[in-house]
Amino acid sequence: MDSCEVLIVGGGPAGSSCAWQLRRSGLDTIVIDKQTFPRDKICGGWITPAVLDALEIDRNEYGSSRVLQTITGFRTSCMGKRAVETMYREPISYGIRRFEFDDYLLRRSGARIYEGVALSSLERVSDHWVVNGQIKAKVVVGAGGHFCPVARFLGADARKEVAVVAQETEFELATQQRRDCSIQGEVPELYFCPDMKGYGWCFRKGNFLNIGVGRLDAHGLPQHASRFMGFLKNNRKLGVDVPTSLRGHAYLLYRHQQRDLVSDGILLVGDSAGLAYSQSGEGIRPAVESGLLAADVILSARGEYNQRTLSLYSNALTSQFGKVHDDWSVVIGRRIPARLIGSFSKLLLESRWFSRHVILDRWFLHRHDPALRFNPQ
Ligand SMILES: Cc1cc2nc3c(=O)[nH]c(=O)nc-3n(C[C@H](O)[C@H](O)[C@H](O)COP(=O)(O)OP(=O)(O)OC[C@H]3O[C@@H](n4cnc5c(N)ncnc54)[C@H](O)[C@@H]3O)c2cc1C
Repeated sequence: MDSCEVLIVGGGPAGSSCAWQLRRSGLDTIVIDKQTFPRDKICGGWITPAVLDALEIDRNEYGSSRVLQTITGFRTSCMGKRAVETMYREPISYGIRRFEFDDYLLRRSGARIYEGVALSSLERVSDHWVVNGQIKAKVVVGAGGHFCPVARFLGADARKEVAVVAQETEFELATQQRRDCSIQGEVPELYFCPDMKGYGWCFRKGNFLNIGVGRLDAHGLPQHASRFMGFLKNNRKLGVDVPTSLRGHAYLLYRHQQRDLVSDGILLVGDSAGLAYSQSGEGIRPAVESGLLAADVILSARGEYNQRTLSLYSNALTSQFGKVHDDWSVVIGRRIPARLIGSFSKLLLESRWFSRHVILDRWFLHRHDPALRFNPQ
């Protein structure tokens, strides 16, 4: 039987960040993933600088052979209404391709990687776990995304949870399409639904275009997605035929998260823990930060991996992400009658001050939250 100190289920940003931090302190770590990397992941591929800073990624080195689109502004609007362009003096975001980014993080982590290996069984035997009947581990980290089997093992039932659903498509533009496409890489476009329960986006990343839409109410998504595609088509913004089918995936926003995240010798990170930011749906930064925080708590436990020592992780999440609370759409919905929300949101979205200081600086960019910094223990 193989053995390790920590076994991580899932090699996405949460799992590989956790592995990287553990390996920097020399802990024997295995990552298993049911897929073989590089693998695609349904995602817009927009990240904030805090992600690169927390992981100490050299922008020049990363960007030398992969897509790293610098973003210095955003165009925001209520779909079909006047757009506001907000520009910054420095890069405030980046566009990456998950196909490249996740593979880079996983390989760089220094962990032993078992690809094409799904979690099939998890058994507690005295003070350790036996994974798939083959690997002994003192700690198991669940990093398998929204439907993570380790989260299920701890009692999560995705069918009973309120998840956000988002859909996207990503494709490479041909030479003529690049000329015809009016979306600028440095200034992605966000189009909010009039009821403020979701938004569509157009991100251009190098030669790639990513279009998508996300909604808090899963049942309304198909109509909103087709309305958004119709809007893009009528406005001839893309310079390419508007795609007819999008690929979708569900995940939890932090404000809906009620999962148990810690047990004896177990922690959940990233989407498995339901940590995506409530206002923007950004999930990569919380995935990376929770992976690093989990690693820090595991290292501090110094081999005593019980519920008491590992529960420090829950405290660390609360101080990083705040208490679980209502997001802006719920607050707006409670204070303003439904029939007035459309006009109210149109007014707010046409305000330059609101677009910069609230939508972008607070909700999307989290400019008030500095990047996590850890030294190896
Ligand atoms: C359409 C869409 C657009 C999005 N756009 C953005 C965006 O632009 N920016 C942003 O920050 N966030 C975005 N998100 C959210 C973001 O994609 C997630 O929050 C993020 O990927 C979470 O990372 P993770 O490591 O927790 O999980 P994942 O990235 O989902 O990785 C989980 C890994 O676990 C593996 N796995 C699953 N089950 C098993 C198993 N049984 N055994 C072994 N391995 C398993 C999977 O193969 C996968 O590699 C978007 C989401 C969607 C749906």
